[in-house]
Amino acid sequence: MTGSLGFAGSVGNTPLVRLRRVSEETGCEILGKAEFMNPGGSVKDRAALAIIEDAEARGALTAGGTVVEGTAGNTGIGLAHVCNARGYRCVIVMPDNQSAEKYLLLKTLGAEVHPVPTVPYSNPNQYQKVAQRLAASLPNAIWSNQFDNTANRDAHARTTGPEIWAQTQGRVDAFVAAAGTGGTLAGVATYLKSRRPEIRCVLADPPGSSLYEYINNGTLKATGSGSVTEGIGIGRVTANLAGAPIDEALHIEDGETVASVYGLLREEGLFLGSTSGINVAAAVRVARRLGPGHTVVTVLCDGGARYQSRLFNREWLQQKGLAAYAPELAPGQTLSIATALVA
Ligand code: PMP
Repeated sequence: MTGSLGFAGSVGNTPLVRLRRVSEETGCEILGKAEFMNPGGSVKDRAALAIIEDAEARGALTAGGTVVEGTAGNTGIGLAHVCNARGYRCVIVMPDNQSAEKYLLLKTLGAEVHPVPTVPYSNPNQYQKVAQRLAASLPNAIWSNQFDNTANRDAHARTTGPEIWAQTQGRVDAFVAAAGTGGTLAGVATYLKSRRPEIRCVLADPPGSSLYEYINNGTLKATGSGSVTEGIGIGRVTANLAGAPIDEALHIEDGETVASVYGLLREEGLFLGSTSGINVAAAVRVARRLGPGHTVVTVLCDGGARYQSRLFNREWLQQKGLAAYAPELAPGQTLSIATALVA
């Protein structure tokens, strides 16, 4: 067959990249699944496509329909692309603390974006609940419900997991990932454990998330508060995460995440967002603990361009007390787009 299959046909089958510096440092093979190379630019393209295809297959979404989602950004971006490709209207409800780049991108893609105040999940005006109500009020609309719609997790069990298995020829000792909905971690862990139960599956958890305590001690309780990471860290067990075979959780402070992001940029040549940083930081810890000769796989979730105004802006890092972890960025160094968005 020649030619591509459009947006949907370009999702997945991403490269597995060897991270040279951290592999040499640990004596392990530390490999990153290059999810930032999906056509919509993130790991969430897989969930977005799977959720829409599942709704179509069930007859819940028909020609000219509307897809509504509450999302921190990347799922919305993936959904907006799939909606454009298939002629659906896309409505996104987004908490107002997200990066300007993701908001602007959603608008550019033609999604209808509703920013709402950032409030706890228990509040009826939390963005996911607003999205659910909005979908119920619109004709021929579905609420894609990425947190509890297990088409999300299933997509990773069906695609991401088998790809990692094939790309490592089954020689994978550990898999490490942060959780937003938990779809990536749960789906990949479920598949890999079905091939070899000894493969260690580890959650990388940021400050403010309750999953570190939940996985390690069985109680949902926040560890620390306020992280610069976006799209990960949660306070409840989603349907996607429920029952997932996770062996252990690691708590990673933001300083370590920022240092990891800058290490990836300067030493690996990879310009990535914060969740790739936390994943690689946690993968290094797992590799150190396993010892030389092991293979640790993690996820490079999205690209750095979505975070120019924050993670790659020295003033912003200073405000967050994190500039010391990004020494490669010279004082006053910001790119013009960052200055424009911050102003
Ligand atoms: N990284 C980024 C950049 C994301 O946007 C998300 C999801 N919001 C994740 C990681 C986590 O993925 P998942 O929802 O599959 O847990």
